[in-house]
Amino acid sequence: MNLPMCPALVFDPADAAQHGQAILDNVLEAIITTDSRGLMTSFNRAATRIFGYAAQEVIGRNVSMLMPAPDRAQHDAHMVRYESTREARVIGVGRETFGLHKCGLVFPIQLSLSAIERDGQLSYVGLVRDISEQKEAESHIERLAYYDALTGLPNRRWVLDQLAQLHSRFAKQGGHAALIFADIDRFKSANDTLGHAGGDALLRATGMRLKDCLDGQGLVARLGGDEFAMLISDLDTDADMAQLEAAQWCQRLLHRLRCEHQIAGQEYRTSASLGVLLVRDGRESPEALLAHAELAMQQAKSESRDTYRFYAAEMGRLAALRASLLNDLRLALQRQELALVYQPQVDEWGDVLGAEALLRWRHPSRGMVSPADFIPLAEQSGFIIEIGQWVLRQACDMLAGWRRHRQTAVLSIAINISATEFLDPEFVPAVSRALAVSGADPRRLKLELTESVLTVDLSDLARKLSALKCMGVGLSLDDFGTGYSSMAYLRELPLDQLKIDRSFIVEIDRSARDEVLVRGMVDMCRVLGLSVIAEGVETPSQRERLLACGCTSFQGYLTGRPMSAEDLRAMVETCQPV
Ligand code: C2E
Ligand code: CA
Ligand code: CA
Repeated sequence: MNLPMCPALVFDPADAAQHGQAILDNVLEAIITTDSRGLMTSFNRAATRIFGYAAQEVIGRNVSMLMPAPDRAQHDAHMVRYESTREARVIGVGRETFGLHKCGLVFPIQLSLSAIERDGQLSYVGLVRDISEQKEAESHIERLAYYDALTGLPNRRWVLDQLAQLHSRFAKQGGHAALIFADIDRFKSANDTLGHAGGDALLRATGMRLKDCLDGQGLVARLGGDEFAMLISDLDTDADMAQLEAAQWCQRLLHRLRCEHQIAGQEYRTSASLGVLLVRDGRESPEALLAHAELAMQQAKSESRDTYRFYAAEMGRLAALRASLLNDLRLALQRQELALVYQPQVDEWGDVLGAEALLRWRHPSRGMVSPADFIPLAEQSGFIIEIGQWVLRQACDMLAGWRRHRQTAVLSIAINISATEFLDPEFVPAVSRALAVSGADPRRLKLELTESVLTVDLSDLARKLSALKCMGVGLSLDDFGTGYSSMAYLRELPLDQLKIDRSFIVEIDRSARDEVLVRGMVDMCRVLGLSVIAEGVETPSQRERLLACGCTSFQGYLTGRPMSAEDLRAMVETCQPV
């Protein structure tokens, strides 16, 4: 009888009898025959090897014993259906499924099943190949193609695939996902201080943290270097609500990343900058989405680090502007467009103690560009090192010049050192060189560091600060109160001064809370033996309140805006008290 959908083998009984056993026992595949009820009638050697049973253990028993639970339950019903309808679902169709070994192990198999009809009696022949190794090899290849070897997380290609899938899903049924691009802040200096093995450990730890934080509600991938991507799907269908959820996720992630790491026995603090966008029904390619998220991350990084930014279409323009500014900045030093201005620092009598040197850039077509705009750009590109060295040399030359006049010889100059500069291994030698070459008095040079330098390895930091201290250079902690400083840092590090951030001063004469905070900072400085200065003092009443808190050094528009060196000198010479 012909079964169009299920090819039946046609046996010549004479041949079968002659070669049957020999063939059965020598093929690599398991060959199992059953009668019409599914009871096994033969079980070759390969079947024994693959399933673990000897032939005599299984002959006469139902073949479903070789199948794991879901298949086993359906097996008898399949046979009954086939017998009555001859509708082949499994028979004649080779497929990958699972086998059950005698020891209970479930393993992948390739199964092809044929029906034989002889004298009106149906029987079945199953050919089974163990494909565990093949599957293992396939998943290894998949791991190589889709996973990152260092962290075990999926890679960039995987993210692009997932984005493509989300696109088509959202196009059909709507919905939102968040794509978050994360980049560890100052990873390069982490690598320098921790060594490469430490850097790798930091990357692994970061991957784990991100994964932990998403808690199964999103997926993390490593894109390469210190860049990670997260995809959080199933956000609200309302775009505004989804945006809010995405922002909350960013905050949670940032918080989680901020906690201290234990890397190679050292405590290590990091942070990251995040760029985020909502993935919707999608006209943009997955590659473009990833590029946009990266742009938003760069924006976060250039604004303040340790923060997140949403992608906005105008960021493309911003990026172009940044690139052109950076280009111009590289030329600015050669074209002598950079200059320092000096803002006086005075005591309670109004006597000038020194000045903070602040950088100015006179751009040929844009006019004055604020350091708040170009310093982050210079930091990001690493160009700040060159700029910083120029500032250092200028300040030292100025100090050397002041040394020759009685009225200016006692003045100090404070220069701003960004964390990138400070972390550069060449920084301390460069300070020493600049002092030696210029002949400036090291005791008149003050370095203003922000709390962001405190996020690195404490022992390395202490070593550098001590080396500077040994030269006689003063160390001031800028923007105090806005970062992470703990008492432990302040106690252990050889600092000379805290500079209370302007944000505490703005409302000190109106806000009791700010006044209490400032008083606390001043008292703390007294206990720790540090001097204290307030920045951004604009009004007499702010100054009064600061004096009442015990703070006796000031800098701000009240005593003088940043000015040229000549103007500062004139101010010192006329010695105008406030
Ligand atoms: P900063 O170190 O906190 O400097 C103080 C900023 O506040 C200066 O802005 C100064 O002009 C401004 N300021 C001073 N007094 C007052 C006041 O009474 N009221 C108000 N509203 N503002 C006041 P500037 O010069 O624009 O500098 C901005 C930032 O750029 C600086 O903040 C510093 O972080 C960075 N910067 C400036 N020069 C350098 C430099 O040579 N190297 C590095 N690495 N950073 C620099
Ligand atoms: Ca400063
Ligand atoms: Ca400051």
